[in-house]
Amino acid sequence: MARLNLRLKENAPGPFYVDETCIDCDTCRQMAPEIYGESRGLSYVMRQPESRDEKLRALQALVACPTASIGGAKGAEVRDALATFPQRIDGPVHDCGLRAESSFGATSYLVLRPAGNVLVDSPRAAGPLLDSPTATTWRTMRVCTPASAATAYSTGMTCRVRRGRWNCSSRAATR
Ligand code: SF4
Repeated sequence: MARLNLRLKENAPGPFYVDETCIDCDTCRQMAPEIYGESRGLSYVMRQPESRDEKLRALQALVACPTASIGGAKGAEVRDALATFPQRIDGPVHDCGLRAESSFGATSYLVLRPAGNVLVDSPRAAGPLLDSPTATTWRTMRVCTPASAATAYSTGMTCRVRRGRWNCSSRAATR
């Protein structure tokens, strides 16, 4: 959870802010480039969201932030933003949203396929994401890192959530 006492001085006045725990992974700037900017190797809020769409993108970035360095949202707003993930990008490809700090905020893609779903880089193992309708097959899907995506496609890997972290193995995937 972001901490007001660590709020960066560069943030525009208003509810949304980034604190000093930012690791400069670029996630928020990619998701809401009109709201978040970069200064001194950290992200900050360039201006507060005005329209409904801007606010939704600012909230999605808040949810996706791997270090929970963005603050200023109400609980109900966070829950609504959480419910937008996994988010369909194109065809069967989805953005899982919640980035993991262990991958320095790498984008986690979920590809839904009849022959077995593929997870490219794992998201944070957050309850709302795991329970989402799109992700009902989380525990039996193939999973791969960007470097091994092609291998995982052909060999199959399994992914399980244990103690809030993703664990991958090279056993044949359960379908
Ligand atoms: S998503 Fe979080 S950690 Fe990444 S740049 Fe934005 S505020 Fe920093």
